[in-house]
Amino acid sequence: MTQPLAGLIGDHQLYIDGTWRAASDGGVRALINPANGTEFISVDEASADDATAAVTAARTTFDDGEWSSTPVAERAALLRRIADLLVRDKADLAYIETLDTGKTLAESEIDIDDVESVFRYYASLVETSADRVVDVGNPAVISRVIREPIGVCVLIAPWNYPLLQISWKIAPALAAGCTMVAKPSEVTPLSTIAFVRLCEEAGVPAGVLNLVQGSGAVLGQALTDNPDVDFISFTGGLQTGIVISETAAKHVTKVAVELGGKNPHIVFDDADWESSVDQVLTGVFLHSGQVCSSGTRLIVQSSIADDFVDALVGRACTIRMGDGLDPTSETGPLVSQAQLDKMHAYVASAKDQGAVLRCGGGRPDRDDLDPGGYFFSPTIFDHCDRSMTIVRDETFGPILTVERFETEEQALALGNDTEYGLAAGVRTSDAALGERMVRGLRHGTVWLNDFGYYTPAAEWGGFGKSGNGRELGPTGLAEYQETKHIWHNTAPSASRWFGPE
Ligand code: NAD
Repeated sequence: MTQPLAGLIGDHQLYIDGTWRAASDGGVRALINPANGTEFISVDEASADDATAAVTAARTTFDDGEWSSTPVAERAALLRRIADLLVRDKADLAYIETLDTGKTLAESEIDIDDVESVFRYYASLVETSADRVVDVGNPAVISRVIREPIGVCVLIAPWNYPLLQISWKIAPALAAGCTMVAKPSEVTPLSTIAFVRLCEEAGVPAGVLNLVQGSGAVLGQALTDNPDVDFISFTGGLQTGIVISETAAKHVTKVAVELGGKNPHIVFDDADWESSVDQVLTGVFLHSGQVCSSGTRLIVQSSIADDFVDALVGRACTIRMGDGLDPTSETGPLVSQAQLDKMHAYVASAKDQGAVLRCGGGRPDRDDLDPGGYFFSPTIFDHCDRSMTIVRDETFGPILTVERFETEEQALALGNDTEYGLAAGVRTSDAALGERMVRGLRHGTVWLNDFGYYTPAAEWGGFGKSGNGRELGPTGLAEYQETKHIWHNTAPSASRWFGPE
């Protein structure tokens, strides 16, 4: 940390039309450090009027046309300047991400690297994107499909990967020439505030990127029930996604929603043992399970199930939980008391419904953890089945359920037996079996003999109730663009469809 916290987020934290300001109603929100449950800073919290003002600023700025007609090379250069500033301020950004979310500093540093990569990726992609020429069968006609910015975008992000998730939206929106209102989660707004300051320093023009933070219940209507908005990109929970989609439909506003997941990790008996145990463990307990693509359902072949679960339990018990700022911590606390309460309720329901608790299930029995911190041990429930709430719901915490299968067909049926479809993993040394499984699984990302990795160059998103639309990759840019077909006849002549002869 090179700058004091207040220096990173400035005196005021709403950014509307190029001005940092307080909330119009004087609202502020105290932020809580999940590692000890105490308030550590307050930030301005927007009112609904502020949200409307931010949308209006984005609308006016888009309509004046200056930003959307900026040459692509200039926009790409701006994205690269932002990436350079992310490198410069990586330590500060990682520090505040850890304070806000509770995740370990090592994880936050990886997040900031990933944010940098996404800006560099979209700078390159937009520079190399070409118009499409269409052959209409008439040599006199030049037919082109061009892409234009979609307009004013509202970008709403969750608390688990605050800066990473919003960067998947801001980078392509800037690359495309859109204007936007960013709304981070009210639980974890700090890194986005600091990042918007970097964007200002990099030279993002006033009104292009506006920032309001505050509760979705207060700001949601102003941001989504607004005819000035052309596109809403939302990442968060299923129920919120449904509300936003319904509201946007009134204005026929385009919506992309990235929602939850209940992700199977399927292990066949011929899978490499060491990497399978290791990645099932990491796949579910990284960031204390608060990952949309977390592999929370282990689906393991019966012949190896007992030994496999024993090996997992042995490793899970040794995971060192602690304050994310402590370099010896391997994982941090949950983000909030609400998340902690949710985990206790899921454990109670799993026990009631007959799942067998093999490890965890509550607060770690350790004196060195702050009593106010939201700590919850890595938890494994064996002998689970699809009738149990814990196997169906997205718990969004460090809870692994174990289901067993005998045949390939059963494994595939179990893997697809979810209303979600975000991500899945398959582990086998049989290449043909692996290929049949990855083709058969109805999930947006499927890892074969790996788990959790992604690249900004490949699309991310879900099947089923995990959402619609895609982020990252070329589709992640196309979401922020309209296509326009230009038909140019270089030798016009009358069609004489109607008379006279
Ligand atoms: P959430 O739905 O409670 O909140 C997400 C965001 O929506 C927050 O900024 C919140 O303030 C805002 N919001 C809430 N109500 C709103 C409304 N009516 N109108 C407009 N905005 C509103 O989700 P969360 O608890 O912050 O995040 C956890 C969820 O996010 C999990 O379900 C997780 O799987 C999902 N997630 C998905 C992905 C993905 O890529 N698919 C990535 C990360 C997280």
